[in-house]
Amino acid sequence: MNEMEERRGRKIIMFPLPFPGHFNPMIELAGIFHHRGFSVTILHTSYNSPDPSRHPHFTFRTIHHNNEGEEEDQDPLSRSKASGMDLMALIRQLKQSYTEPFRQSLAAEVSGGETVCCLVSDAIWGRSTKVAAEEAGVGRVVLRTGGAASFCAFAAFPLLRDKGYFPIQDSRLDDLVIELPPLKVKDLPVIETNDPEELYRIINDMVDGAKSSSGVIWNTFEDLERFQLMDLSDNFQVPFFPIGPFHKHSEDLPSTKNNKEDYAITSWLDKQDPKSVVYVSFGSLAAIEEKEFLQIAWGLRNSEQPFLWVVRPGLVRGNEWLEALPSGFVENIGHMGKFVKWANQLNVLAHPAVGAFWTHCGWNSTLESICEGVPMICTPCFTDQLVNTRYIVDVWQVGIMLERSKMDKNEIEQVVRSAMIDKGDAMRERCMALKERADICLRKDGSSSNNLDKLVTHVLSFDS
Ligand code: UDP
Repeated sequence: MNEMEERRGRKIIMFPLPFPGHFNPMIELAGIFHHRGFSVTILHTSYNSPDPSRHPHFTFRTIHHNNEGEEEDQDPLSRSKASGMDLMALIRQLKQSYTEPFRQSLAAEVSGGETVCCLVSDAIWGRSTKVAAEEAGVGRVVLRTGGAASFCAFAAFPLLRDKGYFPIQDSRLDDLVIELPPLKVKDLPVIETNDPEELYRIINDMVDGAKSSSGVIWNTFEDLERFQLMDLSDNFQVPFFPIGPFHKHSEDLPSTKNNKEDYAITSWLDKQDPKSVVYVSFGSLAAIEEKEFLQIAWGLRNSEQPFLWVVRPGLVRGNEWLEALPSGFVENIGHMGKFVKWANQLNVLAHPAVGAFWTHCGWNSTLESICEGVPMICTPCFTDQLVNTRYIVDVWQVGIMLERSKMDKNEIEQVVRSAMIDKGDAMRERCMALKERADICLRKDGSSSNNLDKLVTHVLSFDS
C-alpha cells in the first residue's frame, strides 16, 4: 500500500466561520488536504450555508441552531440579516447559537466509523471548539485566516489595554505604537461597535483558543511575515504551519466554476489595454455611506482610468445597488467602467488588463493581489485591514494609502492616477518580487511546501 492509499479513509473535519473571507481559505485548505489523500468533511452553520455542489470533493454537514425556523423576532441570527447587526454582535450571536449544536455534530461525526485525524476550526470560534474536540477525543488544529502581523496586534490587546491605548483617543491617532512598530495608534485593529468589551472578549478568546490548540495553520508565507511569525511562536508553545498562499498551492486543486457573469467580466477585461484597469472591491463585509459611494464614483470617473467595481448588494448603506448614482451616470461612463455585484476575484487579479486593486485590504484580498503582482490602493475599514494596510504601504511598499476619512473625489482622482501612472511601475516591480518569493516558498523544498509536509505528519500523528 502506498502512502496516499494508506491515508484514504482518514478524515479531517473542518469548521469554518460562515463569511467568504473565512470560508474561502478553509475550502482552499480542504483542497490541499484532499490533494494529500485525506477525505474532508465540512461542518458548516445553517447561517450563510454554502452550496455543496460547488465543492463536489468534500462532504458537507449542516449544523442547525436552536432557534432555527422560529419567527424572525425569536431568531437573532435571521434578525441580524434584516437589521445589519454590528459585526461583533453577530459573531457573539454565532458563537452562542452554534457552540452546543457543533459539539453534538462533532461527537456524531467522530463516532461515525471512519478514522478522524483531527478537527481544523477557524480561530474565531475560540476556546469552545477546544472543549468539543476534547470531549470527542480528537486533536484540534486552528486555522487563522488573517496574517501574522495583525495577529501580533491581537495578541498584544491585554498589554495595549494596560498601557492605555484603548479606547483609542483621536489626539493620539498618528502616534507610533512603540510596542508594535511600525503600527500607529490609528492602525490598531479595532472596529466600531456598540459594545467594545465584546470586541476584547472575542479577540482574547481567539488568541487563547489558538494558544491552547495543537497547532496553528497560517495562510501566509515565511518570506512575507518571517519576523511576525517568529515573534508569535516565541509566545505560543504550539507548532506553527505557515503554508500559504493556499490558493496557489497546486494547479491540481479543485477550483470553483465560472458563471455567466464571470465570462462577461473576462470579455470586458479582454477589451482593455494591459495594466489599464483599476479593479475596485471592498470585500464581503464592509459597508460604506451613500455620500462615500458617490465620491468614489465621481473620483473614478474623473481619473479617466477604466474601472471594474464590485458593488455588492448591501455595500452602500440604505441602498439596494446603484440607485444613488445620478441618472445617466452609468450610460455616460459607457465602456470605461463596469459595475458588478460579485466577481471571481482570483481571475480578475490574474488578468493582464488589471493595473491596480483598490481594496479594503482584507487578508485574502491582500495575498491574492500580491500573488498576481498587482499594486494596491488601500482603504481599510476595520480590524486587521488597518494593520495589513500599514504593512502594504510602509513595509512591503506595494500600495498607496487612501484613508477613508480623507476620501473625496479630488483626492481619489489624484491617488488613482498616481497608482496607475506615476508610482505604478515601481510598486508593481516590488509586488512582482513578492510574488516571486511566494512562488519560491511554494516550490518543492520551499518553506510553505516543507511546512505542509510537517503539517501532514503532525495531523497523522494524532490518530496513532
Ligand atoms: N471575493 C470575491 N469576489 C468579490 C469580492 C470578494 O471572490 O467580488 C473574495 C476574495 O477573493 C476573497 C474574499 O472574497 O477571497 C474576501 O476576503 P477578504 O479577506 O479579502 O475580505 P473580507 O470579505 O473578509 O472583508
